[in-house]
Amino acid sequence: MDAIERVTQEENLDPQDWDGMRKLGHRMVDEMMTYLETVRERPIWQPMPDDVQQFFKEPLPQKPQAPESIYEEFLKNVPPYNMGNVHPRFWGWVIGSGTPLGALADFLAATMNPNMGGGNHAGNLMEGQVINWSKEMLGFPKEASGLLVSGGSMANLVGLTVARNAKAKFNIREEGLQKAPHQMVFYSSNETHSSNIKAAELLGLGREALRLLPVNSEFEINLDALEEAIKRDKRSGHYPFCIIGNAGTVNTAATDDLNRLADICEREGLWFHVDGAFGALAALSPQLKKIVSGMERADSIAFDFHKWMYVPYEVGCALVRDKKAHYDAFSYVPTYLAKHERGVAAGPVWFSDYGIQLSRGFRALKVWMSLKEHGIEKYGRLIQQNVDQAHYLASLVRKEKGLELLAPVPLNIVCFRYASNKLSDQALNKLNQEILMRLHEEGIAVPSYTIIDKNYAIRVAITNHRSERSDFDLLVHEVLRLGKALQEKPA
Ligand SMILES: *Cc1c(COP(=O)(O)O)cnc(C)c1O
Repeated sequence: MDAIERVTQEENLDPQDWDGMRKLGHRMVDEMMTYLETVRERPIWQPMPDDVQQFFKEPLPQKPQAPESIYEEFLKNVPPYNMGNVHPRFWGWVIGSGTPLGALADFLAATMNPNMGGGNHAGNLMEGQVINWSKEMLGFPKEASGLLVSGGSMANLVGLTVARNAKAKFNIREEGLQKAPHQMVFYSSNETHSSNIKAAELLGLGREALRLLPVNSEFEINLDALEEAIKRDKRSGHYPFCIIGNAGTVNTAATDDLNRLADICEREGLWFHVDGAFGALAALSPQLKKIVSGMERADSIAFDFHKWMYVPYEVGCALVRDKKAHYDAFSYVPTYLAKHERGVAAGPVWFSDYGIQLSRGFRALKVWMSLKEHGIEKYGRLIQQNVDQAHYLASLVRKEKGLELLAPVPLNIVCFRYASNKLSDQALNKLNQEILMRLHEEGIAVPSYTIIDKNYAIRVAITNHRSERSDFDLLVHEVLRLGKALQEKPA
């Protein structure tokens, strides 16, 4: 059969039976809404049995399979073994919980399936609007620029790329760092997120160029040490170009003194980047706003919608004060991407000029619909609610002789452990790790963990709109139960 013959038998990927697909779609929506509605009634997590592990070793499909039967396989093997972050007692790492309308929005976005890299279509206007709303939320000027990205890691990389390029005293895009006359160095605290370390590596600056300074007892950057480090670097002929301020550190949710950092940046001519992956959103609560005061003076801000705005994965945002610097860091327009005056190839803003991705998904829709569904005031109340819950949990921990708080609670993260004066720190580390694994395995709750001053901490980070006060009562009860049992009969 040659090409001309074959086109008489063209095929495509649309269903043969549209009504059947429609029915399946309705069923999926029904069952997924019930899945979310009843999430509290199921264990938060369970280990995957052998047959599920085996299921994912099936070979590459060669022949078609009916959509209903694919969906049945999904139902059996995937939702029961979810990570658990849709559950009210998930407080591990910093992970968002999603919403039903957010999920539906992702369906709409995938159905329309525009490429958000550029062009003249409604999706691009919507992303522009979401970025404008983001500036308003965080007190950034109207003229500032922005981009929706996969998350905080990418938002930090975008902000720091603009910082590096804008501050380089040579044509860095042309020459790269190979020809840098001075070593470019930048600063943050040693509590800064790993994504900033990765950014230092990816930007060719190297990990060593990111000076990680000590913190005070509140886990905020030590400003004297910072000033000293800048002086030392200048004396050595290095070129300081940026400070990364942390708004909500990942270990304890500490926020650096952002106004003081902004002052230093102004005085020294440094770029001020704020990693506010979750903490930046404290700006939405009238009571918490003062914690992030000074953030509005930043040159760039990274924050996430998928953490403390509870929007389904993935979506974060980079804001950059200087639109031209943002454009200059990323825009590269070959002939096949040149903008036209009219038609699809027109459009005022092509987001591919502001980031690394050319092809981009319609992330804006789930954010846009969520913000409209609830209004920004409700987000402020929920963020406050999560912080109030953290303080409630901390108060329970303080009241219990068998528990110990390991760090201050400035925002929404509580680090604590089961404690007993009969056990060494080393024994307590082992015991608390065992408590954590059992909390997960028994499907009770999912906190995560960190090390605070060499002590293993059970770490509860609350970015969950479904949590209720009684969930924290239960956590405390269960940690004490497991701790006592393990102390009597070690694992
Ligand atoms: C989560 C987090 C990041 C990374 O964000 P992702 O959305 O996971 O890529 C960066 N900084 C802080 C403080 C975070 O908590």
